[in-house]
Amino acid sequence: MDLEKYVASIPGFPKEGIIFRDVTPMLQDAEAFKESVNQLAGFVKDEDVDVVVGPESRGFIFGCPVALELNAGFVPVRKPGKLPREVVSCKYDLEYGSNEIQMHKDSIKKGQKVFIVDDLLATGGTVEAAIKLVEEMGGEVVGLAFVIELVDLKAKERLEAKGYKVYSILQY
Ligand code: IMP
Repeated sequence: MDLEKYVASIPGFPKEGIIFRDVTPMLQDAEAFKESVNQLAGFVKDEDVDVVVGPESRGFIFGCPVALELNAGFVPVRKPGKLPREVVSCKYDLEYGSNEIQMHKDSIKKGQKVFIVDDLLATGGTVEAAIKLVEEMGGEVVGLAFVIELVDLKAKERLEAKGYKVYSILQY
């Protein structure tokens, strides 16, 4: 199944010079959605994943069904101020300004095998921040998977150089 047909590319969104890759057509189609989830889960079929971690908000959409497929739990990564209990936080730099993500402090147990899933890998800033939090809590990151990887930004090379396994279904 050609999943590329289910990505809409929108030039100039959210600002000039950016081509936004929109995965909502893939979610809308039952077969394409199922195929994308199967492929993401398939990347770690040889690992005994305990927890899937997904960044807000499209990481929730793909991460939850992947967790069910792997018989794993799901842990959300959220923007500041959304989680009600004690959190761990990580700030990271963007081209202009900075971002912060949080996870519940008790969301990962020491030694748990963690698979991080998101819709898109761009600079890698979001996933690197998520990795930092997972490792701070004692989790072992066994893989990072994305529906889409923007190859020109070279995040995959950088993450692989640090020893992480990086998977993507589609590359742009
Ligand atoms: P990074 O931190 O630069 O790797 O950006 C990845 C995060 O930004 C992911 O959580 C994506 O959902 C979001 N993102 C960046 N660019 C796009 C895009 O073109 N389409 C959809 N999401 C994007």
